[in-house]
Amino acid sequence: MSDPALKPTVAILHYDEIGLKGANRRKFEEQLRRNVRQLCRPVLREVELDYGYLVARIDSAADLGGLRRRLELIPGIANFIFAVPTPLDLEAIVDAAVELAQQSSFTTFKVQARRSNKQFPLDSLELNRTVGSAILERVGGKVRLEDPDLTVHIEIGFREAYVGTERYRGVGGLPVGTAGKLVALISGGIDSPVAAHLMMRRGVKVVLVHFQNETEVRAETETKIYDLARVLARSQGPTTLYIVPFAELQFAIIAAVPARLRMLVYRRFMLRIATELARRVQAKGLVVGDSLSQVASQTLDNLQATYAVTPLNVYAPLMGFNKNETVELAKKIGTYEISIRPYGDCCTFFVPEHPETRASRKVLEAVEAGLDVEALVRKGAQGARRQVVYPEPLPTPEAMSAG
Ligand code: ATP
Ligand code: MG
Repeated sequence: MSDPALKPTVAILHYDEIGLKGANRRKFEEQLRRNVRQLCRPVLREVELDYGYLVARIDSAADLGGLRRRLELIPGIANFIFAVPTPLDLEAIVDAAVELAQQSSFTTFKVQARRSNKQFPLDSLELNRTVGSAILERVGGKVRLEDPDLTVHIEIGFREAYVGTERYRGVGGLPVGTAGKLVALISGGIDSPVAAHLMMRRGVKVVLVHFQNETEVRAETETKIYDLARVLARSQGPTTLYIVPFAELQFAIIAAVPARLRMLVYRRFMLRIATELARRVQAKGLVVGDSLSQVASQTLDNLQATYAVTPLNVYAPLMGFNKNETVELAKKIGTYEISIRPYGDCCTFFVPEHPETRASRKVLEAVEAGLDVEALVRKGAQGARRQVVYPEPLPTPEAMSAG
């Protein structure tokens, strides 16, 4: 493979809502910087704050595709550009833009300059015009502002300028670690990993909890949960995962609770045990993948009767989503393919032909009277196995040259 003459050596990371945070802005920027450093090691080096964006040096042997996929999932990054740095000098900027255009195949193009450094003598409109004319003259093509084949991005910083033709959209939101911690209940289904991701995108660090029933496919299910955790870890770094053995509790519930109410009781125990774990890790609430009316356990009555067992706030960010919206997001964040593997919807076991759709708290409390709730919850939480799941490392330059 022949390298193009001019290869991007920096990534310019633009953030999303950090700018709205007033006095806290600095804290958000620092957190994003730490997250990017940790998640993109060793491919990105020297992640630095410039005014209004981060600049990171890309290792010369980096796999840009892999880096792109990682940056696309880091909360807080609205968009990013792979670029080449130039001195703060019009001629150098024009030369870089022309060379990058020469390396691209395009008919229509536009130049999009941003001048963070207002000391630079040309404003962004003048830059667009000057660089655009140079490309027309030295490379050719046609200027088109709407949906051109090629966009040449120029960022005028304080120490350098940056020119790039590859700009990608990130997930936006806020950097993980700026909003505290929540415990997310993860089944093997499509919804709960998306719910966890949406809360990460609002700055939350999530601790994952999975309740595991006894079936012959336990190993497959556990691998599935682990794989989901690893994908979610791409957005937040090392991720704590609790696996809670649930068989004993299941059998106690089967013995004491009529079939049509079992699912709800089962979920009430999950929330109780998750509440216990939240206390342990100092999390401020719970996250679930419920979506209103999707299944019988998710009617307004049933949700209320379920969430009533915990004093913590229960965050259900998919509540107003249609299924196809959730599926689309699951595909985008990379959990979909894992979630649709067979096995591991642990609760199908519990689904009776006529599940209750209008349970009340009172009725559920009455059927639970036959169970030693406190002891079962304590035992469940005590049996939780904790592990820390890491995202796959980005390929290192050494590993790549060896392969
Ligand atoms: P999912 O696709 O996430 O399984 P769902 O729409 O199928 O969601 P349910 O299976 O009723 O709905 O579960 C609702 C929510 O309860 C899940 O999104 C998840 O947060 C939690 N949950 C269900 N089963 C488990 C489990 N075995 N371990 C942990 N959490 C669970
Ligand atoms: Mg499910």
